[in-house]
Amino acid sequence: MMDCIRANELMPWYANNNLPSEEAWLIADHLVNCPACREELRWIIRMAREHQADLEQMPGLTERTWNKVVARTRGLPVVQVNMGHSLLGLSLRVLVEGRGIPMRGDLFLLGYRAPLFAFEAV
Ligand SMILES: [Zn+2]
Repeated sequence: MMDCIRANELMPWYANNNLPSEEAWLIADHLVNCPACREELRWIIRMAREHQADLEQMPGLTERTWNKVVARTRGLPVVQVNMGHSLLGLSLRVLVEGRGIPMRGDLFLLGYRAPLFAFEAV
């Protein structure tokens, strides 16, 4: 049996449908008999919708601002994972380049780099 304190801790994830089904069922069971928690859920859902509407109305970056960001960050790795050692290694990188997100994987063997893959998510 779930109490109100635990239900309220998990309520934001329940409202966003981001809970494992077992916990979601426990909250749903609690909500059947708890008007206070149902009201809390209504409030969370209403706030999430208003927040989403506010985000959608925000202006995006201007072309000039975006170009400045790209110029300063071009080629910077966002994520880089290196495995192996000096003789044999594998490198996976996600870089900032323009508006796309290029991803590259390289194999290192005896200090030489052999590209494995490169593609760009848009
Ligand atoms: Zn409750």
